[in-house]
Amino acid sequence: MILLKNRIEREKIIVLSMIRMYCSSKHKSEEALCTGCASLWNYVKKRLDKCRFGQEKPVCKECIVHCYESAKREQIRLIMRWSGPRMVYRHPEYAIIHVMDKLTSPNK
Ligand SMILES: [Zn+2]
Repeated sequence: MILLKNRIEREKIIVLSMIRMYCSSKHKSEEALCTGCASLWNYVKKRLDKCRFGQEKPVCKECIVHCYESAKREQIRLIMRWSGPRMVYRHPEYAIIHVMDKLTSPNK
């Protein structure tokens, strides 16, 4: 159950589902992500694992440390902008959880 996982794990699940939605629609990928999206996902996963805030982590969008290199950040921003509104229909539970994580963001 997604609520039981920690913030980092939750963010991973949500980001992955956003990349999946984007990739299958824009890159016509089937089950697996296309090469480009797969390598972006690997990058994001690594960044999240190394996040210096750990469980105190704010949602990435509001984070003060921009740990993504700029090209990757631009890429993920595009994906989120596209997937964000669609996520409300596809995975309403993730959308709600993300809003909750935002509201309880330790950085506020
Ligand atoms: Zn793709």
